Amino acid sequence: MNKNMLCQRAIDALKNSYSPYSNCKVGAALLTESGKIYTGCNIENASFSPTICAERVAFSKAVSEGEHSFTAIAIAGEKSGVLTPFSPCGVCRQVMAEFCNADFKVLVVKTKDEFNEYTLSQLLPNSFNLKEI
Ligand SMILES: [Zn+2]
Repeated sequence: MNKNMLCQRAIDALKNSYSPYSNCKVGAALLTESGKIYTGCNIENASFSPTICAERVAFSKAVSEGEHSFTAIAIAGEKSGVLTPFSPCGVCRQVMAEFCNADFKVLVVKTKDEFNEYTLSQLLPNSFNLKEI
């Protein structure tokens, strides 16, 4: 899977965002080791705490289908109709640490053709992780 194609899937996924409160749309495309892609979008709620990020929607879909091995996730954000780089929040980083290795790739979309690439260990150093105990 080409990284730009994964980013495009994240851009496509943000179109389903339900975000009437923040007006920030986010899409995610999660790549499994077997090459499957699970997408997600942010889903907000008037009560706020039930709100779930695009990344966790993608992980929830994948894990509920039996997937536990992942190589990369692309994240695309949009504010006022313009692609805007949104880094994953702390909760999503912790979810990634549950299922992914330190070298898991996080692609944050900047424009249709550009993205910043991080590893999970860069975004969440010294994470709480029972796998390494
Ligand atoms: Zn999040």
